[in-house]
Amino acid sequence: MRDSASIETKLVHAGAPSPRIGGAIVTPVFQSAMFLYEGEDDYHDLKYIRLNNTPNHAVLHAKLAALEGAEDALVTASGMAAISTALFTVASAGDHVLFQDTLYGGTHDLVTKDFAQFGLEYDFVDGDDPSTWESKLRPNTRAIYFETMSNPMLGVADLEAGVDFARAHGLVSMIDNTFASPINFRPAEFGFDLSLHSCTKYLNGHADIVGGAVIGRAELVDRFRRKLNHLGGSMDPHACFLLERGVKTLALRMAKQGENGLRIARFLEEHPAVHTVNYPGLERHPRHERAARLFDGFSGMLSFELTGEAEAANRLLARTELFLSAPSLGGVESLITIPALTSHLGMSAADRERLGITDGLVRLSVGIEGADDLVGDLEQALAG
Ligand SMILES: *Cc1c(COP(=O)(O)O)cnc(C)c1O
Repeated sequence: MRDSASIETKLVHAGAPSPRIGGAIVTPVFQSAMFLYEGEDDYHDLKYIRLNNTPNHAVLHAKLAALEGAEDALVTASGMAAISTALFTVASAGDHVLFQDTLYGGTHDLVTKDFAQFGLEYDFVDGDDPSTWESKLRPNTRAIYFETMSNPMLGVADLEAGVDFARAHGLVSMIDNTFASPINFRPAEFGFDLSLHSCTKYLNGHADIVGGAVIGRAELVDRFRRKLNHLGGSMDPHACFLLERGVKTLALRMAKQGENGLRIARFLEEHPAVHTVNYPGLERHPRHERAARLFDGFSGMLSFELTGEAEAANRLLARTELFLSAPSLGGVESLITIPALTSHLGMSAADRERLGITDGLVRLSVGIEGADDLVGDLEQALAG
């Protein structure tokens, strides 16, 4: 396969062993904890599942790096294993990290609840206001961390300024690219050092495994690999197999989820029971122009607020039939949730309010069902 191949072709073919193992078209599952010793002289090269080097791992590492046009990649046991291990790779006791203030709930909790135990310091910054970042910079600042689209408000931070700021101050630039997936945004192309994913979401897309990935500069991914080998958050070969299978259809799924997302956002925007819709694909989204310039699509994540607030939101969740009430996202099934009760339950009420995450805010993860059926489901659930 040529480097110049389209991302659709890379999804299917990149990383596939050549020649194919035993002639198999699909990579078989190498469910073997250890492999025969072949004289490896570095601990990290021993063939062992925890050391992330079975053939199932190797295929995914090459494929994910190719998808984002990055130097290297590594899969992990979960998105949080990727995020925590990446942060512990770039920052050590006494170091300081800057974070966009609208973080995924699990990352927010890791930073605010666990960082102190490891002697790590942090500050939150408004990702949309680069003029405020410098005042938070310290001599021991090592990295600045963004998310491609914020959860659940679907804001789009000034990502280009983030890369410039990191370069100017010698910081590692990190971005959680879960919401966009490599189809809609490829951080390495914009100069980010490390991209992080929860593969549990769009990359696998079938809501049947938990997994994560780090993608980026080879030197950093190698340091990450050594840290992960010690911390132990490795992906199981069977999960690797499922992820490899799932990722092959990513382009098809993202196209449909983006199309459904826009259709539903437009429907909600016109509905009298809805007073705000947060979806970067809508022209009236405050960062629509930026999103359209940086991204190749807007994904299937959106949130909205009902005029009837929490009571109306709870009623809506009880009435939808196709939209299943569950947190998480990115799978083929459409899901509906109230972030204040699920993903952001760990955040203080004051922090939630500051970020606009009211008790009546509803988040959708739009799947690949028929658009008319999804709109019809919301219509009947919002009626009366
Ligand atoms: C789900 C999610 C994570 C955490 O991933 P897990 O696979 O659940 O550990 C991190 N970031 C974002 C944006 C997510 O949606």
